[in-house]
Amino acid sequence: MTVRGDSGGRLCLEEAVTGMGRNLRKRAGIICGVLCVTALCLCGCGEQGPPEATVGGTMPEAGEDAGRTSEAAEEPSGADEITTQDSEETGGRMEVTFLDVGQGNAVLVECDGLYLLVDGGDREYSSFVVSSLKQEGVTELDYVIASHYDADHLSGIVGVLNAFPCDQVLAPEYVADTKIYQSFCDVITEREIPLVYPMMGDSYRLGDAEFTIVCPDAYDYTEDNDNSIGIRLVYGENSFLICGDAGEEVEEVMRISGLAIESDVYLANHHGSGTSSSEKFMRAVDPDAVVISAGADNSYGHPSARVMEEIRASGAALYRTDLQGTLTAVSDGSVITWNTDPSQDYRDGDAVAADMASAGSGERPADASGEAPGENVYILNQNSRKFHLPSCGSAEDILPENRAEFTGTRQELIDAGYDPCKRCDP
Ligand SMILES: [Zn+2]
Ligand SMILES: [Zn+2]
Repeated sequence: MTVRGDSGGRLCLEEAVTGMGRNLRKRAGIICGVLCVTALCLCGCGEQGPPEATVGGTMPEAGEDAGRTSEAAEEPSGADEITTQDSEETGGRMEVTFLDVGQGNAVLVECDGLYLLVDGGDREYSSFVVSSLKQEGVTELDYVIASHYDADHLSGIVGVLNAFPCDQVLAPEYVADTKIYQSFCDVITEREIPLVYPMMGDSYRLGDAEFTIVCPDAYDYTEDNDNSIGIRLVYGENSFLICGDAGEEVEEVMRISGLAIESDVYLANHHGSGTSSSEKFMRAVDPDAVVISAGADNSYGHPSARVMEEIRASGAALYRTDLQGTLTAVSDGSVITWNTDPSQDYRDGDAVAADMASAGSGERPADASGEAPGENVYILNQNSRKFHLPSCGSAEDILPENRAEFTGTRQELIDAGYDPCKRCDP
């Protein structure tokens, strides 16, 4: 096990936003989207002074970290008080908030006044995530988990780490050649935040809740997504499975690992991608509820038709941020209460995007740009697979080795697997 809290080693972190939200359905008004992911933030989300983080933290033993008690939460107090989503009570319950960060993940978990964030969404949601945490009353985080270093998980984490003290960051042990990864490493170093590369099977306490690392078995997968840190979060009799963008290969490792993965709530891996949530894996997890965290206009087709059919056939309740916004689940240790009814809408991502476009309500109809065919210049990030207008500030940040210029149509880029930047809206 490797623990590095200083600047001497590789620093990695991603996907760690677990949050509880009672007032998160309403998005904060200001999203500066410019400097929130750096040390300076124009919108004020990074305005707080340096955290009082300790240096060179050591790997916590299960049950000795942020836990206030070693007792299992079999009979949390106040269970019978959980009748509304607006209660300000924090004792005797765990709250899990799936923030609506468009195409990405950001999950805030609160238990006994302690906080865990798993992932932070993409750059344009960074200030939203910070303001959401402030609204929740977060003043410091006990854990931040970066599931992996893709921007739709990592960007918001950098903003959060600049805004709040954090006791410990858990991240996968690999290196990414992106600007946002560098920013992540910088904030870890500057704020001297203890960084841990957790191992499968490690457990951590969050008050009366506990989470166990269920994947990956090693940080050497060629696909970054498969290096995603996954956790099974347990509170009393209730459990949540949150595994970033893990794909089928890692899912199979989990399935046969001997670790418990059966869970009441399953955050669909990789935003409901068809290359995750295999039939076998879904059967093993056997969830009562499945959450899809995806953007309504995403160009990946997330969630996939197969996964949606899988969920429908399983009989699990469906919740989806692309259609329902931020979702909150409160556990009293035996019963989980949601802030909204399950979705009955099993459309896949392509169908949602197409319907939005034809209804004229889409934020950006995919085929209706009216551009002059063949004659637009775009700046590509060949690593993140995003494209920008030449004037976009994000385009300036692209590392030279990843940067390319393209002349052609928007649709050609989308067909080639590129995503339009949400900031410059090319
Ligand atoms: Zn992702
Ligand atoms: Zn990813």
